[in-house]
Amino acid sequence: MQEETIFDKIIRREIPAEIIYESDDVLGFKDINPQAPVHVLFIPKKRIPTVNDMRDEDAERVGKLFLAARDYARQVGVDEDGYRLVMNCNEHGQQTVPHIHLHFLAGRQMLWPPG
Ligand code: 5GP
Repeated sequence: MQEETIFDKIIRREIPAEIIYESDDVLGFKDINPQAPVHVLFIPKKRIPTVNDMRDEDAERVGKLFLAARDYARQVGVDEDGYRLVMNCNEHGQQTVPHIHLHFLAGRQMLWPPG
């Protein structure tokens, strides 16, 4: 198992973060370097380093990230305009923190394809 990351410290409230969502399994907080007017990260409290490390039994836990994102979209009123959900994996995906996280980006027109 890889070592813990800064996200474990955020879960344990050892470093500050602007937490916008919490349940037994999921934490949501604002990204420190926002790439859109709304940029939050939803993470499982149980650390899974990358999507490659997901086990079949993690499916529900990871699915809850999407349910949290759905509820948050409604809460901040971007569900109709839309938003982007991204999960990066390893080097080519530009994953920098090895604790899976669902990026929630909203509040501006997104572009496709990504760079
Ligand atoms: P990745 O590049 O791994 O997909 O995304 C990691 C994200 O975590 C980046 O968008 C980065 O800005 C964010 N991040 C890294 N360290 C911290 C931190 O200490 N606090 C918060 N709130 N976000 C962080």
